[in-house]
Amino acid sequence: MRVVIVGGSFGGLTSAYELRKRLGRRDCEITLIARDRRFVFIPSLPWVTMGTRTVDQISFDLGEPLAHKDVELVHAEVTRIEPENSRVLTDAGEHSYDYLVIATGHRSANESVTGLGPFDGPGHSIMSLPEAEEASRALGAFLNNPGPMVIGCAQGASCIGPAYEFMFEIDHLLRKRKMRHQVPINFVTPEPFLGHLGIGGVGKARQFLEGEFEERDIRYHTSVALAGITESSVELANGTEFESRFSLILPPLAGVSAVAESTGLANPKGFVPVDDYYRHQQFDNVYAAGVAVAFPPVDETPVPVNFPKTGHMTEQMAAIAAGDITATVRGGERCSRPLMAECILDMGDKAARLKADPVRPPRNTAVLSDGKRWLLAKKVFERYYLWSAKRGSTVSTAWGW
Ligand SMILES: Cc1cc2nc3c(=O)[nH]c(=O)nc-3n(C[C@H](O)[C@H](O)[C@H](O)COP(=O)(O)OP(=O)(O)OC[C@H]3O[C@@H](n4cnc5c(N)ncnc54)[C@H](O)[C@@H]3O)c2cc1C
Repeated sequence: MRVVIVGGSFGGLTSAYELRKRLGRRDCEITLIARDRRFVFIPSLPWVTMGTRTVDQISFDLGEPLAHKDVELVHAEVTRIEPENSRVLTDAGEHSYDYLVIATGHRSANESVTGLGPFDGPGHSIMSLPEAEEASRALGAFLNNPGPMVIGCAQGASCIGPAYEFMFEIDHLLRKRKMRHQVPINFVTPEPFLGHLGIGGVGKARQFLEGEFEERDIRYHTSVALAGITESSVELANGTEFESRFSLILPPLAGVSAVAESTGLANPKGFVPVDDYYRHQQFDNVYAAGVAVAFPPVDETPVPVNFPKTGHMTEQMAAIAAGDITATVRGGERCSRPLMAECILDMGDKAARLKADPVRPPRNTAVLSDGKRWLLAKKVFERYYLWSAKRGSTVSTAWGW
């Protein structure tokens, strides 16, 4: 039997390791196709932008760990998937499969607001390594010539937490340098209230974040849609305009073109519709995990806010998909469970840990706690995750991020 996995990040790597844990080399050939040879610990991108972590510190080459697990690594870009023929086409040849796992993450839908960037417009972003590196360079120049700043998310965004993280980190940095008085900060978000995060809020997150924003003198604007970003301003759809010398706005996401443009595979946004086992709703031998998966929003909001797919959730999806492929092949019992989310939000001088179980309300558990210990935990977790992943093991999903 041959399994092909597309994507070499959290979803792809976890799928490979979880499958190999369950199915030996004789039972299953595994091929992982990745556009990038390096695994990057994306949750640390805000630290790359702030200059506190380097790319080498947060990434590793996939070759050795995958070879060690007898997983073939193909360094290529998938151009199309033919689910009817069980075939994946790449820029370096084609691969047929018995089972396919799609873990291709996102494309930033920058076309949704004029000026979203950094490669399509003057706005900055931290959704990928090249974007975080660009933001880091731009931030260096900004700090030499400070002025007003706008941080936040565009309408339809789903990955919202990193905008809060970046804002708290920059606030902390500016205070440390005694420059905060030179930088008025406006935070703009489509969320109906602070701390909604696309999941309807978590415990006391709203009150907590409102308090933090007030204490730190950061003006915030909720239920906001953006009309455009220029070199010197951010304009809202209601006509309000904020002067801005540095605008970091996270975009709404879409599925990557190889998936979006493959007939019958994805919804109109390019995400893959799946069942409770992360199996494609139409093609029984196709699975998806992570940001590539289609989920509806948790609630209707005045300005659209989409459901986030965190790294922690991605790992749970990949483990369920690997378990289901194994159960299908071996005839065991199929097993799924609702996703939970646990993450640590860096706030510069401290961090907040949020846990929502299940992610979709109503919940059994919804907690938020904050303190310096969570900042330390976030730093330790990154190092532990990379250490583990390099050695071919996944970190238990019972651990929060
Ligand atoms: C700044 C930031 C901070 C975050 N912080 C946290 C956090 O603290 N906690 C948390 O749980 N989550 C966090 N997340 C979310 C987390 O990073 C994502 O959930 C996770 O990266 C999703 O993994 P994935 O494998 O689905 O997709 P991705 O990580 O996007 O990876 C997709 C992979 O597919 C490859 N690929 C795409 N298209 C093709 C193609 N056509 N051919 C071949 N390969 C292809 C890409 O090169 C990439 O390797 C954060 C996200 C960002 C942007």
